[in-house]
Amino acid sequence: QGKYMKLIITGGAGFIGSAVIRHLIQNTQHAVLNLDKLTYAGNLESLTSVANNPRYRFAQLDIGDKTSVQTLLMDYQPDAIMHLAAESHVDRSIDGPADFIQTNIVGTYSLLEATRQYWLSLDSEKKAHFRFHHVSTDEVYGSLGTDGLFTETTAYQPNSPYSASKASSDMLVRAWHHTYGLPVVTTNCSNNYGAYQFPEKLIPLMILNALEGKALPVYGKGENIRDWLYVDDHARALCLVLTEGKIGETYNIGGHNEQKNIDVVHMICDLLDELRPNSPHKPHKQLIKYVTDRPGHDLRYAIDANKIKNELGWIPEETFETGLRKTVQWYLDNPNWWQRVRDGSYRGERLGLG
Ligand code: NAD
Repeated sequence: QGKYMKLIITGGAGFIGSAVIRHLIQNTQHAVLNLDKLTYAGNLESLTSVANNPRYRFAQLDIGDKTSVQTLLMDYQPDAIMHLAAESHVDRSIDGPADFIQTNIVGTYSLLEATRQYWLSLDSEKKAHFRFHHVSTDEVYGSLGTDGLFTETTAYQPNSPYSASKASSDMLVRAWHHTYGLPVVTTNCSNNYGAYQFPEKLIPLMILNALEGKALPVYGKGENIRDWLYVDDHARALCLVLTEGKIGETYNIGGHNEQKNIDVVHMICDLLDELRPNSPHKPHKQLIKYVTDRPGHDLRYAIDANKIKNELGWIPEETFETGLRKTVQWYLDNPNWWQRVRDGSYRGERLGLG
């Protein structure tokens, strides 16, 4: 990470984007501009540790606002853009797909066009080194049976409005490379977990509900399998692909950590029993409640991450056991962050409502 670069991270106030920004500011010399609309999922309180660093800047913008985005690009003159801004929660996409189509598809299209105009304006040296890194999900590949793994050449078979919108954005990025020559790299990653994850997602939801003695809702029989990756391992992989990945290529990122949902919930309950020995809710497993399955619920996702390992030398540092322990401990140590998310005050103050 020797060379100094100016980077724009879209969606930098979200779960993964904020981990990327903390990593870049703390471990590299790069400058970072966080471009984020601040939807319900955007929380600048995840960036307090870097907010005062002179290499960090924030711009509140919608990726779909092409004119303002283009002005910002011309003004900031980034060497690269990492695109994470998206609507990201599958259940929300089932209840209301419109925002997913708007941000993930139309917004990505608009950002690609603003980026292309900016890229065309660069001198030949800067143009040759520029790159647009699109961050996507393994959910574009659909569902696996009991065996097999997703590779970079697996056919796309998205099943939810969320994964269909991400698959569409991947295709747009591909086309902007093949048609217009825009220098792009794409990564498709498995389920992330770790600190600062919005408590609607499985792992933080279970931790916080268990702490408060509330029911732990598990879809169906809890048999669905996900391949879990610790968010800081993902952030390292993304920064590596951004600088070292080959233009036009796709890299799958995963942790070789396949777990049934019910086993994840049991592990969280066991960790809380151990770390909270005096909890009145012990044993926490008694709080588990099976609920009607999600419609179109994909059975199993699992990533073959050999390409990024062999070509770029990336491997995850955390196992699921070590990463989950760190995550549970983080939520125990940081009630200020999640209480303000749970009671909505992280948004109210931001909007000037108190
Ligand atoms: P997140 O929901 O926590 O954060 C998304 C961020 O994007 C928020 O800060 C939000 O304010 C911002 N945003 C939303 N719409 C915007 C718009 N129109 N303009 C500008 N900003 C906007 O999401 P995450 O979990 O951090 O995921 C980040 C990216 O990684 C997404 O593209 C997602 O598809 C992908 N991904 C996530 C996972 C996962 O497990 N969380 C796994 C693989 C890939």
